[in-house]
Amino acid sequence: MERWRLDYIRGLRWLRRHRPVVALRYFERAVESASFSRYLPTASRPSDRSFLSSLFAYLGVALRKVGMRNRGHASLVEAVRLVKRGIPRRALLAGVNEYGMASQATEEADDRHAFYGIKLAHYIRSKRSQRLGTRAEIDMVAELIDEAWCELRNTIDLPRLSPVQKLRLFEKTLVVFPFMSVPEAMKRSDIAVDFSTGRRIGPADRCHCGSGLPYLWCHGRTPGTDEALIGRF
Ligand SMILES: [Zn+2]
Repeated sequence: MERWRLDYIRGLRWLRRHRPVVALRYFERAVESASFSRYLPTASRPSDRSFLSSLFAYLGVALRKVGMRNRGHASLVEAVRLVKRGIPRRALLAGVNEYGMASQATEEADDRHAFYGIKLAHYIRSKRSQRLGTRAEIDMVAELIDEAWCELRNTIDLPRLSPVQKLRLFEKTLVVFPFMSVPEAMKRSDIAVDFSTGRRIGPADRCHCGSGLPYLWCHGRTPGTDEALIGRF
């Protein structure tokens, strides 16, 4: 048996014993070796696809259990891209908010997480290294985003806006970070177009990749802070 399948089975075993941290290590190693094998890029056989989909789904569950909810969410989206229906999709639907992010306890927390994710991604994209360096830098960025968030929340009646309106507002709200010199980085570089119709894909439209998920939940997803911090979007 391939190594990634063995790691997947070991991970499952630890997940069943309620040891998500150990399970996570096996699942991550499985994904790593699967992505170096011939499986991940093609995964053309239905049995390979469903095996990989389960791997991403359980990786997502383990990540959620250790508190990395948005990374867990990203992993579930990956699982649904491989196999559209079934457990991964149900797990995804059970924990998703109106932004297509991992849902939080309150609507305000959902808004705040979306704002944080967008602004942190802007900042990281503007950096040549594409990642955050020191603890001091992380604190500085978090503080600036927090200030901007408080001002926004106090000046605008957010509950009256739709998620799409809020996302637009968050995108264009300016947070001035020191050393950030690339204004183009403030714009999303990926405008999705459906080539069969020549139309721009709206947030609520089905994603162009065929996952069956709304674009806002799939390739148009806002990264959560736990993803942005490790530079994965
Ligand atoms: Zn997609």
